[in-house]
Amino acid sequence: MEKYYVNVESDRHGMHKVHRAGCLFLEKRKDRIFLGYFNNSAQALEQSKDYYVKVDLGVCCCREYNSHNIFLVSNREEISYR
Ligand SMILES: [Zn+2]
Repeated sequence: MEKYYVNVESDRHGMHKVHRAGCLFLEKRKDRIFLGYFNNSAQALEQSKDYYVKVDLGVCCCREYNSHNIFLVSNREEISYR
């Protein structure tokens, strides 16, 4: 289990990025919401949807999931992925 966070501040596409604890990008950010402990980033992404509609996994720390499951994300009606 690892800790995951979602950034409060969105990126230039309006997406709120989910990051794993210890991610270099996350450590620089003060404005973040603690999502909880999850077995994988997919579960963290689901949890982050309780806070924001437009969420995405940070490729900096969640790349392994991201690259294998892009089709799952793109099937979600509210998210236009890339
Ligand atoms: Zn990250």
